[in-house]
Amino acid sequence: PQGQTKKLRQPIVVVLGHVDHGKTSLLDKIRSTAIAAREAGGITQHIGASIVPSAVIEKISEPLKKIVPIKLAIPGLLFIDTPGHELFSNLRKRGGSIADFAILVIDVTKGLQDQTFEAIDLLKSRKVPFLIAANKIDRLPGWESNPDQPFVVSYQNQSRRAKEELERVIYGIIVTKFSELGFQTELYTKIKDFTKTVAIVPVSAKTGEGIPDLLAVLAGLTQQYLKNRLIFAEGPAKGSVLEVKEAEGLGTVIDTIIYDGIIRVGDIIVLNGKNGPIITNVRSLLMPAPLSDLRAKGTRFVNVSEVYAAAGVRIAAPDLENALAGSSIYVANSVEEANELSKTLQSEVKELIFKADKDGIIIKADTLGTLEALIEAFKRMNIPIRVADIGNISKSDVLEASLTAKKNRSLGVIIAFNVKILPEAEAELANSNVKVIQNNIIYHLIEEYENWSENLKR
Ligand code: GDP
Ligand code: MG
Repeated sequence: PQGQTKKLRQPIVVVLGHVDHGKTSLLDKIRSTAIAAREAGGITQHIGASIVPSAVIEKISEPLKKIVPIKLAIPGLLFIDTPGHELFSNLRKRGGSIADFAILVIDVTKGLQDQTFEAIDLLKSRKVPFLIAANKIDRLPGWESNPDQPFVVSYQNQSRRAKEELERVIYGIIVTKFSELGFQTELYTKIKDFTKTVAIVPVSAKTGEGIPDLLAVLAGLTQQYLKNRLIFAEGPAKGSVLEVKEAEGLGTVIDTIIYDGIIRVGDIIVLNGKNGPIITNVRSLLMPAPLSDLRAKGTRFVNVSEVYAAAGVRIAAPDLENALAGSSIYVANSVEEANELSKTLQSEVKELIFKADKDGIIIKADTLGTLEALIEAFKRMNIPIRVADIGNISKSDVLEASLTAKKNRSLGVIIAFNVKILPEAEAELANSNVKVIQNNIIYHLIEEYENWSENLKR
């Protein structure tokens, strides 16, 4: 089985950044580059993730051997397929993230923008190390594209003007802005100590320039500096619930990312649900059918009997209807252990789902991850929170908020991420002065709240 004889598991890599800076394109480019190297193993499709094996990384970064000499000890890199802050926030574990490393994408024609700053805050609060992919270098004035070439090779072929344009962006914008934020950043080729400096890797998700460098630096950094995190433990699996879904013929299933250990059909699993921890048994484990994803429209799935970390796997089991995305998931060796783990899970939720005895806003979100991200964001702004909860906006939420609104208008607000307003609440809202702010992008919720509360002061 995969991973069994290997000492290290694949680092889990996420892609974050401002909208339109090229997150999706970059992941697509990494995937297509890996698929093109299929004689070296191509990519392995997982649920919600893809694995680029080491042999493929070595082959793609072969031309860089002299500059970035790496002998890979990790078996590959696991990329989370869907970029974005909302999904990233569901990769939570207490005090951190199950993401081992992040790629922060910055469009070199735009520089740092609102969601870039949001991403930096998220990475800081979850303590996730990252590198900067300075994307769209093909759009720099005077840049001559060298498709699929390493950045260092393409750079040597550039005119003086193009080189100066790149330096202007890297040093004049990225390095300067990051140093204001307390980060030392530098072009990756010039870094002496990667523990002190965040690497900047210039890339183009369009032409593929810099993809070899990006993969080499990701693999090199993670295996060198995160070794302790990546040691594969032969024990029961640990993971995060990325999404809760309805699957035809299977009922409610959970899409999970497993970051440690082994999960097998029949195993006892423990995770958080809307009404408390759920203890159940794995009925089946599903993975995308090999290669079906390349041609067929809908992904076909195959049943597997066991899965080794790191992996993305869909789990079917009884009693998952109330499962919460963003929850940790653990395999238990016995019923007693399951009961112990459910206590741990309960205490994890206490910090996120609460009702405080003070005036403050109400936050309602669809998953534990987005709820946590919102709590952190409003705490950073020093906005007090009265209620934080999962689920739709209810009548009692409106009543709570309207009591607060009478005392402090700017706190009489319900912040709603990806949840609905229940009909009973609609009626109550109509004759209250409670403000509801609904959005499916975390950043926009915060921005709308700031604008609204600023306007109140006028
Ligand atoms: P996302 O919102 O961060 O996922 O950004 P997308 O990947 O959807 O990219 C936004 C737009 O930028 C699309 O029109 C892409 O084709 C374009 N784009 C992305 N990367 C590059 C690049 O490296 N070069 C150029 N010229 N365009 C790019
Ligand atoms: Mg996108």
